[in-house]
Amino acid sequence: MRYLIVSDLHANWEALQAVIEDAAGRYDKIACCGDVVGYGADPDLVTEWVRANVSAIVRGNHDKACAGLEDLEWFNPAARASALWTQSVADAGNLEYLRRLARGPENCNGFQLIHGSPVDEDEYLLTDREVNDIAPYLDAEVTFFGHTHVQTGFLCHRNGVKVLGQEVLEPENDVRYLINPGSVGQPRDNDPRAAYVLHDTVGRTIEFRRVAYDVEKAQQKILQAGLPDLLARRLATGN
Ligand code: ZN
Repeated sequence: MRYLIVSDLHANWEALQAVIEDAAGRYDKIACCGDVVGYGADPDLVTEWVRANVSAIVRGNHDKACAGLEDLEWFNPAARASALWTQSVADAGNLEYLRRLARGPENCNGFQLIHGSPVDEDEYLLTDREVNDIAPYLDAEVTFFGHTHVQTGFLCHRNGVKVLGQEVLEPENDVRYLINPGSVGQPRDNDPRAAYVLHDTVGRTIEFRRVAYDVEKAQQKILQAGLPDLLARRLATGN
């Protein structure tokens, strides 16, 4: 089965459209590591697409916040403002869908989905040291995660953790793959292009992909919505 793996869509419809177009014909099903909404100006369009097309998903911290499940006190001002804005404009049915999203890990066709880490959905896994600490808790051979908005992959072995590039997965025993498809809607790895991964469960391949999208249009919508202009600015630089 060929999967399109997406994460951290963040209500960015322009970025999501570019990903769907770029990946067309290359996947059979879609899986998502959370953060459907928050930051961006199209929570309804993006949530409706997710509801109609995604076959496996876990919730992200912004999904919880926008659905009223999270104390906004701990959010930074821009994230808090966007969560409150999303609550005020989004369709009640879409907010209810977000409220009911499962906490990870979620099993999907032999692999797993999480938002942050296998032990804490709100934990950021950025370095090989952080990954090494949680590696014993990875249940599946392949796990996809999000939250950091950094497209990357780690191979966890008893001898340590290795950062991956484009990869054919080796069917070794006691190896765990931890893959972040990157963020569709708000990349933070200094590449403003929308990020995603294609995963073939039979061919055992992982393909990291980037696609340019209409950043200016997404920025205009954020500014027109009255959201903090920082949220528009950072889309241009991808950080
Ligand atoms: Zn996010």
